[in-house]
Amino acid sequence: MEEASETSTAEGTAPSGASPTIDGILAHNRAFVERGEYERYATDKYPDKKLAVVSCMDTRLTELLAAALGLKNGDAKIIKVAGAEVAHPFGSVMRSLLIAVCELGVEDVMVVAHTNCGAQHMSGSDMIDNMRRLDVSEERIEFARHCGIDFDRWLAGFGDTEESVRKSVDLIRNHPVMPPHVRVAGFVMDSVTGELKPVDAR
Ligand SMILES: [Zn+2]
Repeated sequence: MEEASETSTAEGTAPSGASPTIDGILAHNRAFVERGEYERYATDKYPDKKLAVVSCMDTRLTELLAAALGLKNGDAKIIKVAGAEVAHPFGSVMRSLLIAVCELGVEDVMVVAHTNCGAQHMSGSDMIDNMRRLDVSEERIEFARHCGIDFDRWLAGFGDTEESVRKSVDLIRNHPVMPPHVRVAGFVMDSVTGELKPVDAR
């Protein structure tokens, strides 16, 4: 997959097909590179603040998160996932954190959930209904169930935001192969003002 994305980036000018959004992005990208606008973002792969942030994919946080934390390019590893949840001890978020710590020198981890998160009140059955509406056949849904996917569990919202942050902090802090020097702290960000409220650990 990495090779494929490298190829498409290298080609750059290839039309994306039927998406005006992606075509617009590609046009911007060509101009961005030609004008040398990347120069002010130059940095290396090591985070200057030795910091990793686990936060939500929410669009309100796209720029707000970095601005409210005072982070610029090169400062921190930012891991974005629905609900800012570390849902599985050996899933992709934990993998990213371990890489950040063991390969890239991270010493501090912040888990930053936010108010009014779209992932908070999700339900597996509602999402299955949405899939049906979006032309996913009953046959495919049943096939996934037969393969052992428990949609109600996998697609469930986290309910209480602070409790979800506490769980993620706990999981990172007590992870069997997380080096013990790493400091982990949890927060809830106001999605409008960017204000951080600390979440007390267990
Ligand atoms: Zn969210």
